[in-house]
Amino acid sequence: MKFGTKLIHNGNEIDKHTGALSVPIYQASTYHQTDIDKTQDYDYSRSGNPTRRVLEETIAKLEGGDRGYAFASGMAAISSVLSVFSSGDHLIVCEDVYGGTYRIVNNFFSRFKVDITFLDATNVDAVRRGIKKNTKAIFLETPSNPLLKITDLKEVIKTAKEQGLLVIMDNTFMSPYLQRPIELGADIVIHSATKFIGGHSDVIGGLVVVKGEELAKSVYNIQNGFGAILGPQDSWLILRGIKTLKVRMDHQQNNAHRLAEWLANHHKIAKVYYPGLPEHPGSRIHLSQADGSGAVLSFKTIDDETARRFMKNVHLAAVAVSLGGVETIVSYPVKMSHASMPKANRERLGITDDLIRISVGLEEFDDLIQDFDCALL
Ligand SMILES: *Cc1c(COP(=O)(O)O)cnc(C)c1O
Repeated sequence: MKFGTKLIHNGNEIDKHTGALSVPIYQASTYHQTDIDKTQDYDYSRSGNPTRRVLEETIAKLEGGDRGYAFASGMAAISSVLSVFSSGDHLIVCEDVYGGTYRIVNNFFSRFKVDITFLDATNVDAVRRGIKKNTKAIFLETPSNPLLKITDLKEVIKTAKEQGLLVIMDNTFMSPYLQRPIELGADIVIHSATKFIGGHSDVIGGLVVVKGEELAKSVYNIQNGFGAILGPQDSWLILRGIKTLKVRMDHQQNNAHRLAEWLANHHKIAKVYYPGLPEHPGSRIHLSQADGSGAVLSFKTIDDETARRFMKNVHLAAVAVSLGGVETIVSYPVKMSHASMPKANRERLGITDDLIRISVGLEEFDDLIQDFDCALL
């Protein structure tokens, strides 16, 4: 079955009890136990809930992993996965990782003596050199945020496997429709389901997919132990979002591609970052490991003033953090997602005052262009 069909037909499309074509929202915390000497599928909703379980099985199938777990947010998912490690373990994390991940690793896991190295994972030699005796895992994000830098997944995974390391991939920007890291050898895939998977800017959620039963058991024990679970109502919203993932992504990606080309030819634009443009330095590698370039892009204007004016004058697009919704969202990283990062760090990573990020939505292309053209005057 092809991916678009799997979004609709994945074994859970018909409710086994009623035939309903939508999974019921099991708004229950606990379950009657008919025989105290027997274990049953559900006994308490922190440990398992039927609506959440359908979501967890669905995402595991879509990513090609063995088990899926749904969490209260993308950050709950990331924090829970990182809790698999112990004091004294060393992790390599790509330096332009999501801001929330950077903070939790630096401010929280470091207190528990988890040793962390941030490095440029687009440089496979740097990754090799960063591996120590106590290294346990490599945490990646590609394309990265907000400059859409590309890590060569196959090369880094090969290096990791030679050294017996786990590879953890935050796949939020691509979704399983466009990129499936487990098929390339990764061990754990994480999503902020708040973004493309939910897709409607109406729910916060996180998903984890794991390869291998042993690792799955560790993640499950943390999910059940820490209890950062996703509620049944939010699980249902994300299941609904998943059904239209492909059609949304196809349209948004097409808009993004055209917008990237239009921006690249605009006299007020200095640079466009989109892996779908052939001049993007990671374009070839990206297209060898993903089925498309997605719907997020960034650009730099000719000066800081133009960027600030654009943010003030853009009307159709929302000015907001987040991405992956049906509406086009523009964000200004230096004041929003990366505001807490020291300026020197930001500049070293290329996150400057003339940089704008766009998550392209489902609007008609001509209306988007008109809005952007006015805002760039
Ligand atoms: C938004 C985001 C997260 C965090 O997810 P929340 O649902 O906001 O907790 C993690 N990684 C990436 C790449 C994101 O875009």
